[in-house]
Amino acid sequence: MKYLENIERFAREWPDRTAVRASTGMDLTYRGLWAASEALAAQVGARVERGVPVIVYGNKDPFMVVCLLACMKAGCPYVPIDGSSVPPQRTASIAAQISASMKGDTGAEAPLVLAVGAFPRCEEMPPVDVIEHRAIGDLVAAAGHSDRERWIDGEDLAYILFTSGSTGAPKGVEVTAACFDNFCEWDLELVRAHTAGFEGGPVWLDQAPFSFDLSVFELAGALGGGGALYSLAAETQLSMAAQFAALKESGAGIWVSTPSFAELCLANADFDQNAMPDLKLFVFCGETLPNATAARLLERFPRARVLNTYGPTESTVAVTAVEVTAEMAAGAEPLPVGSPRLGTRIRIVDEEGRAVPAGTFGEVVIEGDTVARGYFGRPDLTARAFGEAMLDGTAVRAYRTGDEGCLDAEGMLHFRGRLDLQVKLNGFRIELGEIESHLRRLPEIAAAAVAPVYRDGKISHLVAHVVPSAPLQDTPFRVGLALKERLAEFLPHYMIPKKVAFHESLPMTGNGKLDRRALTEKK
Ligand code: AMP
Repeated sequence: MKYLENIERFAREWPDRTAVRASTGMDLTYRGLWAASEALAAQVGARVERGVPVIVYGNKDPFMVVCLLACMKAGCPYVPIDGSSVPPQRTASIAAQISASMKGDTGAEAPLVLAVGAFPRCEEMPPVDVIEHRAIGDLVAAAGHSDRERWIDGEDLAYILFTSGSTGAPKGVEVTAACFDNFCEWDLELVRAHTAGFEGGPVWLDQAPFSFDLSVFELAGALGGGGALYSLAAETQLSMAAQFAALKESGAGIWVSTPSFAELCLANADFDQNAMPDLKLFVFCGETLPNATAARLLERFPRARVLNTYGPTESTVAVTAVEVTAEMAAGAEPLPVGSPRLGTRIRIVDEEGRAVPAGTFGEVVIEGDTVARGYFGRPDLTARAFGEAMLDGTAVRAYRTGDEGCLDAEGMLHFRGRLDLQVKLNGFRIELGEIESHLRRLPEIAAAAVAPVYRDGKISHLVAHVVPSAPLQDTPFRVGLALKERLAEFLPHYMIPKKVAFHESLPMTGNGKLDRRALTEKK
C-alpha cells in the first residue's frame, strides 16, 4: 500500500519530524510512530487472521493512529469507534456484526478490540478480546516487526466505517486499500495546488472523530505527505477556551472540518489570522457550506483559501472540490460543491436511472476508483446502492448516493438536498429512520416520527413526534426526558432529538401516508 510505503520512507528520511501531536501534549515522531505500529502489528498479526476486522476504540490520541496503522500492516481492516459519542449498546451492535462475520471463518468468534479509551461493557456485548490502553503501551514498547506479506493492498479492506442505518442498526461501509491510496493521492494534489511554501510538510488540524470519514482527509493527507496531525482531544473540545488555546498553539496550516465546526469557532471574535498565522487552507466537507461562513472566513483569514468538497463515506471521504472565492461567497447563489477528481465520474439520473441533461436535477451517482466495496455483511443493502460502470475502459464501482444534485454546463456539481430521510446535523450523518425504529421498539410508544427543525435553511435540531400507547403518567417534559434517556442507551448523543412532542395521532397525507412535511418546522 502506497500510504504505508510513504510513511515508512518519511520515518527513514526524517525520523525526528513530528507525525502526530495531540492537544493533550503527547506527540510522536515518524520514527516513533513507525516503530510503535510495527510492534503492535506483530502482536495483532499473532492474534488475528489476515482480513478479520479489528475494532479500534477511543478518541483523539496519538495511540489511535498507531493502532490504525498497525491494523493496516497486519492486513486487518480497522473499525474505528469513537469513545466519546458512541454508547455501549451501539458499540455492542457493531461488535456483534463483526463477531457474526467471523463465525465459521476462523473458529474464533471474539473480535479483537484495541482499546485506547476505557472499553464499555453491557449485557448485549458479545465476547470480545480487549487489549486495554496500558497493555497496548507495553506491546508497542516491545520491539517487533510487521509481516510485509500481510500489509493491506488493492482490494483488501483498509477500514470499515459504521454510519447510521435506516433500519435501526448501524451499517459498515467497506473501504479498500486502493480507495484509500487513490483518495490520498488526490487529497495531496488538492492541497499542493492550493498552498505553497510548507517547509517540511504542513500541520493538519485533526478535529473530526475517527469514526467520521472526514478524519481520513487529514489522516491520509498529513501522514501520506510527510506533514503532521494536530489532534484536538475530546476533552479539549469540551471547553471553548481550551479549544481556542489549542488552535492557537497548533501551528496548523491546513484546516479540515465541517462548516458547523468552523461556525462554532467564528463565534469567537479573536478567531482570525493573528490567532492562526500559518493557516493557508480551509477544507470543508460533509454538509452544506453556507456562503456567509465562507465569506467571514475569507475576511478574517486574508492569507487563507477555502475549498468546498463533497462526497459520502461510500466513496471515500470526498470526490469533488471547488475553491470558494470572495466573489462566489458574496453571491446569492448557493455555493457549488465542485468538479470531480480524476478517477471519478459523476452522473445525474432520474428515477428510472436514466441520465438527465446538464442543468437538470436528479440523483447523484458516483462512479470511480474510490467507490467502496459495499456494506459489511449486508449484500442486500449493497445490491440496492452499489453497481458497476466502465470509466475510460476500466471497470469501476458505482454508488447511488440518495443526494439530489445537478451538473452545470461546466461539469460543476450543485447539491440540493436528500431524496430520502437522511439528514446532516452539525455535520453528523443521521438516518431519521434509525431513531424512529428505536422509538417504536419502546412499549410506551404507539407511533413515532422524527422531524428536523430548520433555522435559516439549516437544521438546528430534531424533534421526536410520538403517540403514547397509554395516557401519560407524568408531565410531558419528564416523560420526554425519560424517553431521551432510553434512546441514549442505543444512539450517539448527536442523534438524540432535542425535544419530544406528544400527539394523539400523527398527521397523514391524503393517501394515508405519514405527512412528514407537516411535521418539519422552518423558522
Ligand atoms: P458522510 O458519509 O457522513 O460523509 O455524509 C455524506 C453526505 O453528506 C452526502 O451524501 C451529502 O448528503 C452530504 N454532504 C457531503 N458533502 C457535502 C457538501 N459539500 N455540501 C452539502 N452536503 C454535503
